[in-house]
Amino acid sequence: MNIAIAGSGALGCGFGYMLQKNGQNVTLLDYWEDHIEAIRNNGLTVSVNGVKGTLPMTIARPEEVSGEMDVIFVFTKAMGLEKMMTQINHLIGTKTKIVCLLNGLGHLKTLEAFVDRRNIIMGTTVWTAGIIAPGETQLNGNGPVELQNSHPEEEEAARVIVNILKDSGLFGEYSKNVKYTTWRKACINGTMNALCALLDASIDQLFASPSIDSLLNGIVDEFAAVAKAQDDIEIDRDEMIHYLKEVASRLGSHYPSMHQDLFNRRPTEIDYLNGAVVEAAEKYGIEAPHCRRMTDLIHAKEAVLEIK
Ligand code: NAD
Repeated sequence: MNIAIAGSGALGCGFGYMLQKNGQNVTLLDYWEDHIEAIRNNGLTVSVNGVKGTLPMTIARPEEVSGEMDVIFVFTKAMGLEKMMTQINHLIGTKTKIVCLLNGLGHLKTLEAFVDRRNIIMGTTVWTAGIIAPGETQLNGNGPVELQNSHPEEEEAARVIVNILKDSGLFGEYSKNVKYTTWRKACINGTMNALCALLDASIDQLFASPSIDSLLNGIVDEFAAVAKAQDDIEIDRDEMIHYLKEVASRLGSHYPSMHQDLFNRRPTEIDYLNGAVVEAAEKYGIEAPHCRRMTDLIHAKEAVLEIK
């Protein structure tokens, strides 16, 4: 299959590498000059759970590539999605499937401005990835990648992609309720990630804090109220907090991605997490003071660090 990775950073390179290794014809798309040059000169090096390998891979700026793709995985940061969709428009045909595994809320609406809902496959993943240097990344975990068609008649197409991910060692799974997994992932990012970023704390430091339960309760309640009002998704607060603590116990001394964004002086995805909850809460007449404060504080932290 002709597969493009639109946004070949940490996760995009990890997925591109695994797919290419399994015989798919992968084109990495990006605009980061040093990264493009490194991959063109030396191939893409990825450490998958500590096992390092290098593959020659095609990488290009989107405008340098032509022809319709079978599948395009979008792997920008949330705030880069809309722009990337305009940049890859010429690679999208009537049958091209767009797979979106970005963290955050509201991406289906962004994608629908560019492609028919029939061709949009939404999902989440708990793989973790990082950039070591231009041309070198790491991919850790064992998935899964949960995917679901956005249009009821496209289940077969989603299952084909799930199988490609399975065959590539990426642990694809067909989801019967991807909206729920999206909200659950957003809730983790809007609590654990945002609080670690604000407090400059690792996950185990955060969960050792005496005020952790009150902080989590307030934020989770707001995510749950908006998930119900907007998408008719039920989030049980106690179950979610139990899940969060279980995830936290596995990740231990790790610093989540929003912390790493600030550390690397890059903008966070807060507007697509707690910020998106605040925006939707206003629409449905729901109070969301915790999410509002979190969003304001993260933006204040970005300003303090002079991140644009
Ligand atoms: P990323 O920041 O590594 O890459 C996103 C884009 O930024 C790419 O185009 C990349 O080339 C560019 N970029 C990265 N570093 C750069 C630099 N120093 N200079 C210039 N450009 C640079 O993002 P990611 O971690 O791959 O995440 C993509 C999406 O997947 C996000 O929505 C994220 O929340 C989500 N996600 C990430 C992980 C993870 O562990 N990384 C896990 C699950 C979901």
